[in-house]
Amino acid sequence: MTAATSETVNLLIDLVRRDSVTPDDKGCQDVLGDRLAAAGFELESMPSGPVSNLWARRGQQAPLLVFAGHTDVVPTGDINAWSSPPFSADIVDDHVIGRGAADMKGGVAAMITAVERFVTAYPEHPGSIAVLLTSDEEGPAVEGTRHVIDVLQQRNESIDYCIVGEPTSAHTLGDVIRHGRRGSLGATLTIHGKQGHVAYPHLADNPVHRAMPMLSELTAIQWDTGNEHFPSTTLQISNLHAGTGATNVIPGDLTVEFNLRYSPETTIDAIESRVNQLCRDHHLDYDIAWKDSAHPFITSPGTLTNAVQQAIQESTGLVATLDTGGGTSDGRFIAPTGAQVIEFGPINATIHQIDERVSCKDIDALTQIYESVLIQLLAKRED
Ligand SMILES: [Zn+2]
Repeated sequence: MTAATSETVNLLIDLVRRDSVTPDDKGCQDVLGDRLAAAGFELESMPSGPVSNLWARRGQQAPLLVFAGHTDVVPTGDINAWSSPPFSADIVDDHVIGRGAADMKGGVAAMITAVERFVTAYPEHPGSIAVLLTSDEEGPAVEGTRHVIDVLQQRNESIDYCIVGEPTSAHTLGDVIRHGRRGSLGATLTIHGKQGHVAYPHLADNPVHRAMPMLSELTAIQWDTGNEHFPSTTLQISNLHAGTGATNVIPGDLTVEFNLRYSPETTIDAIESRVNQLCRDHHLDYDIAWKDSAHPFITSPGTLTNAVQQAIQESTGLVATLDTGGGTSDGRFIAPTGAQVIEFGPINATIHQIDERVSCKDIDALTQIYESVLIQLLAKRED
Protein backbone atom coordinates (compact mmCIF):
# COMPACT_ATOMS: atom_id res chain seq x y z
CA MET A 1 0.00 0.00 0.00
CA THR A 2 1.11 3.50 -0.73
CA ALA A 3 0.48 6.56 1.37
CA ALA A 4 -2.61 8.66 0.67
CA THR A 5 -2.17 10.74 -2.45
CA SER A 6 -3.37 14.28 -3.11
CA GLU A 7 -6.21 15.20 -5.41
CA THR A 8 -3.76 16.38 -8.07
CA VAL A 9 -1.75 13.16 -7.93
CA ASN A 10 -4.99 11.14 -8.17
CA LEU A 11 -5.96 13.07 -11.28
CA LEU A 12 -2.47 12.50 -12.72
CA ILE A 13 -2.80 8.76 -12.11
CA ASP A 14 -6.16 8.70 -13.90
CA LEU A 15 -4.61 10.51 -16.89
CA VAL A 16 -1.51 8.30 -17.09
CA ARG A 17 -3.72 5.18 -17.10
CA ARG A 18 -5.16 6.38 -20.42
CA ASP A 19 -2.66 5.34 -23.10
CA SER A 20 -3.11 8.50 -25.14
CA VAL A 21 -0.33 8.13 -27.71
CA THR A 22 -0.52 10.97 -30.28
CA PRO A 23 -3.09 11.82 -31.63
CA ASP A 24 -5.36 9.62 -29.51
CA ASP A 25 -6.73 11.47 -26.48
CA LYS A 26 -8.30 8.35 -24.92
CA GLY A 27 -10.88 10.34 -22.98
CA CYS A 28 -8.43 12.55 -21.07
CA GLN A 29 -10.09 15.74 -22.28
CA ASP A 30 -13.54 14.41 -21.27
CA VAL A 31 -12.35 13.88 -17.71
CA LEU A 32 -10.72 17.30 -17.57
CA GLY A 33 -13.63 18.99 -19.34
CA ASP A 34 -16.14 17.58 -16.85
CA ARG A 35 -14.14 19.03 -13.99
CA LEU A 36 -13.79 22.41 -15.67
CA ALA A 37 -17.52 22.51 -16.48
CA ALA A 38 -18.25 21.84 -12.81
CA ALA A 39 -15.97 24.80 -11.99
CA GLY A 40 -18.03 27.09 -14.19
CA PHE A 41 -16.13 26.89 -17.47
CA GLU A 42 -17.82 26.98 -20.88
CA LEU A 43 -16.48 24.09 -22.94
CA GLU A 44 -15.81 24.13 -26.64
CA SER A 45 -14.57 21.05 -28.37
CA MET A 46 -12.50 21.97 -31.43
CA PRO A 47 -11.50 18.69 -33.07
CA SER A 48 -9.48 18.78 -36.27
CA GLY A 49 -8.90 15.58 -38.23
CA PRO A 50 -7.87 12.87 -35.74
CA VAL A 51 -6.90 15.44 -33.11
CA SER A 52 -8.96 16.31 -30.02
CA ASN A 53 -8.77 19.91 -28.82
CA LEU A 54 -10.58 21.52 -25.93
CA TRP A 55 -11.04 25.23 -25.25
CA ALA A 56 -12.61 25.89 -21.85
CA ARG A 57 -13.18 29.46 -20.68
CA ARG A 58 -14.57 31.04 -17.53
CA GLY A 59 -15.45 34.76 -17.73
CA GLN A 60 -15.71 37.23 -20.59
CA GLN A 61 -13.55 40.08 -19.35
CA ALA A 62 -9.89 40.92 -19.93
CA PRO A 63 -7.30 40.02 -18.95
CA LEU A 64 -7.49 36.41 -20.11
CA LEU A 65 -5.05 34.02 -18.44
CA VAL A 66 -4.67 30.70 -20.27
CA PHE A 67 -3.19 27.42 -19.11
CA ALA A 68 -2.12 25.37 -22.12
CA GLY A 69 -1.10 21.76 -22.35
CA HIS A 70 -1.25 18.49 -24.25
CA THR A 71 -2.89 15.21 -23.34
CA ASP A 72 -0.97 13.11 -25.87
CA VAL A 73 2.20 11.19 -25.05
CA VAL A 74 5.06 9.70 -27.05
CA PRO A 75 5.21 5.89 -27.53
CA THR A 76 6.56 3.82 -24.64
CA GLY A 77 9.47 2.12 -26.39
CA ASP A 78 10.16 -1.43 -25.17
CA ILE A 79 7.49 -2.07 -22.52
CA ASN A 80 9.60 -4.81 -20.95
CA ALA A 81 12.37 -2.34 -20.24
CA TRP A 82 10.07 -0.39 -17.86
CA SER A 83 10.38 -1.19 -14.16
CA SER A 84 6.58 -0.97 -13.92
CA PRO A 85 4.07 -0.93 -16.79
CA PRO A 86 4.08 2.48 -18.53
CA PHE A 87 0.30 2.97 -18.28
CA SER A 88 -0.27 1.65 -14.78
CA ALA A 89 0.92 4.82 -13.01
CA ASP A 90 2.51 2.97 -10.09
CA ILE A 91 3.89 5.07 -7.27
CA VAL A 92 7.44 4.15 -6.34
CA ASP A 93 9.52 6.21 -3.91
CA ASP A 94 6.89 8.94 -3.97
CA HIS A 95 7.10 9.25 -7.76
CA VAL A 96 4.40 8.46 -10.31
CA ILE A 97 6.01 6.29 -12.99
CA GLY A 98 4.47 6.22 -16.44
CA ARG A 99 4.53 7.55 -19.95
CA GLY A 100 3.44 11.17 -19.88
CA ALA A 101 3.80 11.56 -16.10
CA ALA A 102 6.27 14.45 -16.58
CA ASP A 103 5.53 15.35 -20.22
CA MET A 104 2.99 16.60 -19.51
CA LYS A 105 0.11 15.06 -17.66
CA GLY A 106 1.67 16.25 -14.39
CA GLY A 107 1.48 19.86 -15.54
CA VAL A 108 -2.05 19.33 -16.88
CA ALA A 109 -3.30 17.77 -13.61
CA ALA A 110 -1.74 20.62 -11.61
CA MET A 111 -3.33 23.35 -13.74
CA ILE A 112 -6.79 21.79 -13.38
CA THR A 113 -6.73 21.49 -9.59
CA ALA A 114 -5.11 24.94 -9.29
CA VAL A 115 -7.97 26.44 -11.28
CA GLU A 116 -10.55 24.52 -9.22
CA ARG A 117 -9.11 25.81 -5.98
CA PHE A 118 -8.85 29.34 -7.28
CA VAL A 119 -12.47 29.59 -8.48
CA THR A 120 -13.69 28.12 -5.20
CA ALA A 121 -11.79 30.83 -3.28
CA TYR A 122 -12.56 33.64 -5.78
CA PRO A 123 -15.84 32.75 -7.51
CA GLU A 124 -16.31 36.36 -8.68
CA HIS A 125 -12.73 36.85 -9.87
CA PRO A 126 -12.07 39.66 -12.34
CA GLY A 127 -10.72 38.79 -15.80
CA SER A 128 -11.07 35.36 -17.36
CA ILE A 129 -9.37 31.99 -17.18
CA ALA A 130 -9.12 29.47 -20.00
CA VAL A 131 -7.62 26.03 -20.43
CA LEU A 132 -6.40 24.95 -23.87
CA LEU A 133 -5.76 21.23 -24.35
CA THR A 134 -4.66 19.35 -27.44
CA SER A 135 -3.84 15.74 -28.28
CA ASP A 136 -1.33 16.70 -30.96
CA GLU A 137 1.73 18.30 -29.46
CA GLU A 138 4.15 15.40 -29.75
CA GLY A 139 3.16 14.71 -33.38
CA PRO A 140 2.87 16.96 -36.41
CA ALA A 141 1.32 19.72 -34.22
CA VAL A 142 -0.64 21.07 -37.17
CA GLU A 143 -4.20 20.35 -36.06
CA GLY A 144 -3.67 21.02 -32.37
CA THR A 145 -2.84 24.30 -30.66
CA ARG A 146 -2.24 25.97 -34.01
CA HIS A 147 -5.81 25.16 -35.05
CA VAL A 148 -7.31 26.44 -31.79
CA ILE A 149 -5.32 29.67 -32.03
CA ASP A 150 -6.52 30.15 -35.63
CA VAL A 151 -10.15 29.83 -34.46
CA LEU A 152 -9.59 32.25 -31.56
CA GLN A 153 -7.92 34.80 -33.81
CA GLN A 154 -10.73 34.63 -36.35
CA ARG A 155 -13.18 35.70 -33.69
CA ASN A 156 -10.80 38.23 -32.08
CA GLU A 157 -10.53 36.36 -28.81
CA SER A 158 -7.17 37.49 -27.48
CA ILE A 159 -4.96 35.97 -24.84
CA ASP A 160 -3.12 38.23 -22.41
CA TYR A 161 -1.12 35.69 -20.42
CA CYS A 162 -0.39 32.06 -21.17
CA ILE A 163 1.31 29.45 -19.04
CA VAL A 164 2.29 26.26 -20.85
CA GLY A 165 2.74 23.46 -18.31
CA GLU A 166 5.62 21.74 -20.11
CA PRO A 167 8.35 20.21 -17.93
CA THR A 168 10.94 23.00 -17.84
CA SER A 169 12.61 22.36 -14.49
CA ALA A 170 16.10 20.91 -14.81
CA HIS A 171 17.29 19.68 -11.39
CA THR A 172 14.78 21.00 -8.86
CA LEU A 173 11.19 22.08 -9.33
CA GLY A 174 11.29 25.82 -9.96
CA ASP A 175 14.86 26.24 -11.17
CA VAL A 176 14.00 27.08 -14.80
CA ILE A 177 11.21 28.97 -16.56
CA ARG A 178 11.24 29.19 -20.33
CA HIS A 179 10.27 32.61 -21.63
CA GLY A 180 11.03 31.91 -25.26
CA ARG A 181 12.32 29.27 -27.58
CA ARG A 182 14.75 29.10 -30.43
CA GLY A 183 13.54 28.66 -33.99
CA SER A 184 13.82 25.33 -35.79
CA LEU A 185 14.71 25.06 -39.48
CA GLY A 186 15.27 21.71 -41.20
CA ALA A 187 16.80 20.92 -44.57
CA THR A 188 17.06 17.92 -46.86
CA LEU A 189 20.00 18.38 -49.22
CA THR A 190 20.52 16.01 -52.13
CA ILE A 191 23.88 16.13 -53.89
CA HIS A 192 23.87 14.61 -57.35
CA GLY A 193 26.80 12.76 -58.86
CA LYS A 194 27.05 9.98 -61.41
CA GLN A 195 26.81 6.32 -60.49
CA GLY A 196 29.60 4.04 -61.69
CA HIS A 197 32.07 1.22 -60.95
CA VAL A 198 34.57 1.92 -58.19
CA ALA A 199 37.32 0.66 -60.53
CA TYR A 200 36.37 3.25 -63.15
CA PRO A 201 36.08 6.47 -61.15
CA HIS A 202 36.94 8.58 -64.22
CA LEU A 203 33.60 7.47 -65.70
CA ALA A 204 31.63 8.39 -62.55
CA ASP A 205 31.24 11.38 -60.23
CA ASN A 206 31.23 10.51 -56.54
CA PRO A 207 28.75 12.67 -54.58
CA VAL A 208 30.21 11.45 -51.25
CA HIS A 209 33.60 12.88 -52.13
CA ARG A 210 31.98 16.09 -53.30
CA ALA A 211 29.88 16.39 -50.15
CA MET A 212 32.57 15.86 -47.53
CA PRO A 213 34.47 19.15 -47.80
CA MET A 214 31.22 21.07 -48.05
CA LEU A 215 29.68 19.36 -45.00
CA SER A 216 32.84 19.88 -43.04
CA GLU A 217 32.61 23.63 -43.73
CA LEU A 218 28.87 23.65 -43.04
CA THR A 219 29.24 22.14 -39.60
CA ALA A 220 32.04 24.56 -38.69
CA ILE A 221 30.06 27.74 -39.39
CA GLN A 222 29.53 30.03 -36.44
CA TRP A 223 26.13 31.46 -37.27
CA ASP A 224 25.96 33.97 -34.43
CA THR A 225 26.86 34.29 -30.76
CA GLY A 226 23.28 34.50 -29.50
CA ASN A 227 22.19 37.39 -27.29
CA GLU A 228 21.28 38.04 -23.66
CA HIS A 229 18.24 35.74 -23.91
CA PHE A 230 19.32 33.18 -26.51
CA PRO A 231 22.23 30.78 -26.85
CA SER A 232 24.03 30.80 -30.20
CA THR A 233 22.52 29.12 -33.26
CA THR A 234 23.53 25.49 -33.76
CA LEU A 235 23.39 23.08 -36.70
CA GLN A 236 23.30 19.31 -36.42
CA ILE A 237 23.32 16.69 -39.17
CA SER A 238 20.73 14.05 -38.30
CA ASN A 239 20.74 11.72 -41.30
CA LEU A 240 23.26 11.02 -44.04
CA HIS A 241 22.68 8.50 -46.76
CA ALA A 242 24.43 7.36 -49.90
CA GLY A 243 25.33 4.05 -51.46
CA THR A 244 23.58 1.10 -53.00
CA GLY A 245 24.78 -1.40 -50.42
CA ALA A 246 27.25 -2.88 -52.91
CA THR A 247 30.92 -2.24 -52.21
CA ASN A 248 31.91 -1.82 -55.83
CA VAL A 249 29.44 0.89 -56.83
CA ILE A 250 29.97 4.63 -56.65
CA PRO A 251 26.59 6.04 -55.62
CA GLY A 252 24.68 8.43 -57.80
CA ASP A 253 23.29 10.64 -55.04
CA LEU A 254 23.93 11.59 -51.45
CA THR A 255 21.19 12.86 -49.17
CA VAL A 256 21.86 14.68 -45.95
CA GLU A 257 19.34 16.03 -43.46
CA PHE A 258 20.23 18.72 -40.99
CA ASN A 259 18.45 20.96 -38.52
CA LEU A 260 19.26 24.37 -37.13
CA ARG A 261 18.07 25.67 -33.79
CA TYR A 262 18.43 29.36 -34.34
CA SER A 263 18.36 32.51 -32.27
CA PRO A 264 16.71 35.76 -33.44
CA GLU A 265 20.21 36.99 -34.32
CA THR A 266 20.08 34.86 -37.49
CA THR A 267 17.24 34.85 -40.01
CA ILE A 268 15.93 32.03 -42.17
CA ASP A 269 16.93 34.03 -45.26
CA ALA A 270 20.48 34.39 -43.99
CA ILE A 271 20.74 30.67 -43.29
CA GLU A 272 19.34 29.63 -46.64
CA SER A 273 21.48 31.99 -48.67
CA ARG A 274 24.63 30.97 -46.81
CA VAL A 275 24.00 27.26 -47.44
CA ASN A 276 23.23 27.90 -51.10
CA GLN A 277 26.40 29.94 -51.45
CA LEU A 278 28.40 27.14 -49.87
CA CYS A 279 26.95 24.60 -52.33
CA ARG A 280 27.84 26.87 -55.22
CA ASP A 281 31.37 27.47 -53.86
CA HIS A 282 31.84 23.70 -53.88
CA HIS A 283 30.42 23.42 -57.41
CA LEU A 284 27.75 20.98 -56.32
CA ASP A 285 24.83 19.83 -58.44
CA TYR A 286 22.18 19.83 -55.73
CA ASP A 287 18.56 20.21 -54.63
CA ILE A 288 17.54 21.44 -51.24
CA ALA A 289 14.16 21.41 -49.47
CA TRP A 290 13.67 23.52 -46.35
CA LYS A 291 11.24 22.91 -43.52
CA ASP A 292 10.42 25.97 -41.47
CA SER A 293 8.95 24.42 -38.32
CA ALA A 294 9.22 27.07 -35.64
CA HIS A 295 10.15 30.72 -35.43
CA PRO A 296 11.98 31.99 -32.35
CA PHE A 297 9.90 33.87 -29.80
CA ILE A 298 10.50 35.70 -26.56
CA THR A 299 8.36 37.14 -23.77
CA SER A 300 10.21 40.04 -22.21
CA PRO A 301 10.52 39.94 -18.45
CA GLY A 302 7.41 41.67 -17.06
CA THR A 303 4.03 41.00 -15.49
CA LEU A 304 3.83 37.30 -16.26
CA THR A 305 7.45 36.33 -15.64
CA ASN A 306 7.41 38.32 -12.39
CA ALA A 307 4.24 36.60 -11.17
CA VAL A 308 5.60 33.14 -11.93
CA GLN A 309 8.98 33.89 -10.38
CA GLN A 310 7.31 35.22 -7.25
CA ALA A 311 5.01 32.19 -7.00
CA ILE A 312 7.98 29.84 -7.36
CA GLN A 313 9.93 31.68 -4.71
CA GLU A 314 7.02 31.58 -2.24
CA SER A 315 6.60 27.84 -2.75
CA THR A 316 10.18 26.60 -3.14
CA GLY A 317 12.46 29.43 -2.04
CA LEU A 318 14.18 29.34 -5.42
CA VAL A 319 14.83 32.22 -7.78
CA ALA A 320 13.96 30.73 -11.16
CA THR A 321 16.19 31.38 -14.14
CA LEU A 322 14.60 32.64 -17.34
CA ASP A 323 15.80 30.51 -20.21
CA THR A 324 15.12 29.86 -23.92
CA GLY A 325 16.69 26.40 -24.30
CA GLY A 326 15.11 23.07 -25.10
CA GLY A 327 13.15 21.93 -28.13
CA THR A 328 10.13 23.58 -29.67
CA SER A 329 6.77 23.74 -27.92
CA ASP A 330 3.27 24.94 -28.63
CA GLY A 331 4.27 28.31 -27.16
CA ARG A 332 5.46 29.06 -30.72
CA PHE A 333 1.82 29.24 -31.90
CA ILE A 334 0.56 31.35 -28.99
CA ALA A 335 3.34 33.97 -28.68
CA PRO A 336 2.83 35.46 -32.19
CA THR A 337 -0.70 36.55 -31.16
CA GLY A 338 0.91 39.09 -28.82
CA ALA A 339 0.27 37.13 -25.61
CA GLN A 340 2.88 36.98 -22.87
CA VAL A 341 3.84 33.28 -22.86
CA ILE A 342 5.95 31.33 -20.44
CA GLU A 343 6.43 27.63 -19.91
CA PHE A 344 6.83 26.19 -16.49
CA GLY A 345 6.42 22.68 -15.17
CA PRO A 346 8.05 19.63 -13.55
CA ILE A 347 11.59 18.25 -13.88
CA ASN A 348 12.29 17.09 -17.42
CA ALA A 349 15.15 14.64 -16.72
CA THR A 350 13.15 11.52 -17.70
CA ILE A 351 10.82 12.80 -20.44
CA HIS A 352 10.43 10.52 -23.49
CA GLN A 353 12.57 7.94 -21.63
CA ILE A 354 11.92 4.46 -20.22
CA ASP A 355 10.64 4.88 -16.61
CA GLU A 356 9.49 8.47 -17.11
CA ARG A 357 8.51 9.77 -13.69
CA VAL A 358 7.44 12.78 -11.69
CA SER A 359 7.63 13.46 -7.96
CA CYS A 360 4.28 13.61 -6.10
CA LYS A 361 5.69 16.37 -3.92
CA ASP A 362 6.60 18.41 -7.00
CA ILE A 363 3.13 17.96 -8.48
CA ASP A 364 1.56 19.32 -5.30
CA ALA A 365 4.01 22.25 -5.22
CA LEU A 366 3.30 22.94 -8.89
CA THR A 367 -0.44 23.19 -8.16
CA GLN A 368 0.31 25.70 -5.44
CA ILE A 369 2.52 27.74 -7.80
CA TYR A 370 -0.12 27.84 -10.55
CA GLU A 371 -2.75 28.85 -8.00
CA SER A 372 -0.53 31.62 -6.66
CA VAL A 373 -0.05 32.98 -10.21
CA LEU A 374 -3.84 33.06 -10.64
CA ILE A 375 -4.19 34.98 -7.40
CA GLN A 376 -1.50 37.50 -8.36
CA LEU A 377 -2.73 38.12 -11.90
CA LEU A 378 -6.48 38.00 -11.38
CA ALA A 379 -7.54 38.29 -7.74
CA LYS A 380 -5.05 40.97 -6.73
CA ARG A 381 -5.62 42.95 -9.86
CA GLU A 382 -6.32 46.64 -9.42
CA ASP A 383 -9.25 47.79 -11.50
ZN1 LIG B 1 5.36 18.02 -23.84
